[in-house]
Amino acid sequence: MLDQTPMEVMERKALRINPLKTCQPVGALYAALGVRRCMPHSHGSQGCVSYHRTFLTRHFKEPAVASSSSFTEGASVFGGGSNLRSSVKNIFDLYDPDIIAVHTTCLSETIGDDLNSLILEMEIPDDKIVVHCNTPSYVGSHIHGHANMVAGFIRYLADKRAPKSDRVGLFPGFVNPGDIREFKRLLSLMDIDFITLPDQTGVLDGPMTGVYEMFPEGGTTIDDIRALGGVKLALAMGEFCSTEPALALKTKCKIDSLVMPLPMGVNLTDSFLMALSEISKKPIPKELEDERGRLIDLMLDANPYFHDRECAIFGDPDTVLGLTSLALELGLKPKYLVTGTPGEAFEKKGAALLESYGALAGAKVKAAGDLFELHQWIKNEPVDLLIGTSYGKQIAKAENIPFVRAGFPILDRYGHAYQALVGYEGALKLAVKIADAIMDRMDSDCADEDLELVM
Ligand code: SF4
Repeated sequence: MLDQTPMEVMERKALRINPLKTCQPVGALYAALGVRRCMPHSHGSQGCVSYHRTFLTRHFKEPAVASSSSFTEGASVFGGGSNLRSSVKNIFDLYDPDIIAVHTTCLSETIGDDLNSLILEMEIPDDKIVVHCNTPSYVGSHIHGHANMVAGFIRYLADKRAPKSDRVGLFPGFVNPGDIREFKRLLSLMDIDFITLPDQTGVLDGPMTGVYEMFPEGGTTIDDIRALGGVKLALAMGEFCSTEPALALKTKCKIDSLVMPLPMGVNLTDSFLMALSEISKKPIPKELEDERGRLIDLMLDANPYFHDRECAIFGDPDTVLGLTSLALELGLKPKYLVTGTPGEAFEKKGAALLESYGALAGAKVKAAGDLFELHQWIKNEPVDLLIGTSYGKQIAKAENIPFVRAGFPILDRYGHAYQALVGYEGALKLAVKIADAIMDRMDSDCADEDLELVM
């Protein structure tokens, strides 16, 4: 007779099903698009950059321009140096950018191409610049790629001899142009002069003019990146995305940074504005106090619909933590927090945030997770609401759960790149969407004659 041993539960470690992240070069390419007259360049095969561009274009609904070293079998065997030299010459000859920002791919990292040496030995026109960062995609995620590219710009260009100024550096992190506009509005309202790196406003949310511009007017200028070496302080928004650029600026130019969470919801926006007030030595203007008051008013009005509803929040780590803070303030109960980006810090910070509201019991917080696992959790213990990227819609449909899209990517809806999640205004708009989603569900669950009761 066979031994009757209890079935062992196997943990899935080496496989991701429906991952909640994409590869490092996607983040690097996005960061490079936030520098004026910059050509992002993918040092690898055409298939890679084709995927990266498509992915960004589907989210932003704008062309994401980038070039490729076009690796074939030869480069895979002999290295990609010759391809890079030809690429750089052709790009400057044909498209005339001011700067080329090279990021690596899995293939060039595996070959071991030494980008530092290749760029040093390359013939580059006097008035042109080539920078690079390493983005091996078998580690990290698009968030690391973004951080590495921003740090790469700083390492090459930030000038420690730049004149000392009263300006503040702003690393907005991997957020939408709508968020960057909101950051800039808040700093302007606090009367702070700033340099934003990167700045995709005017590039990936530019107006329709009828004329195609390969290099639109937006983006951080090269002079401003150099001037980062003289700012009095840098604000690094989002620990996961902006710590690396902050370290690069400290190492190269001895400039301190304040690393802060993305200011989503009341508490985090309060902290951000208090930091700005400290920097500028100016009080927070009434305009912002009124915005805060309107947000609080909405939160109170709609609280009966938010209160104690369990939700799952998933996406990029800084965004998920910011959204969780807002969700807790609204009265929701975040039950599952998942990011695809690896890093224990996410689990610790997520758990601490839930604990601070007494909401940790029964909750699960996971880094390097995937949507398959989230779906299994929801099947076992359902939630009332999903908040996250487009990829959650299959779970929402299968389990009939209201779904609010927020974060990156949003592929199946329009306009998200224009909308801020940060600041009081961003929180207010998201709170309205959440209330709408919950109340739409209540309406559809109601008998026709009871509809008026939920008005
Ligand atoms: S091979 Fe690597 S760099 Fe290229 S698309 Fe795949 S994960 Fe990204």
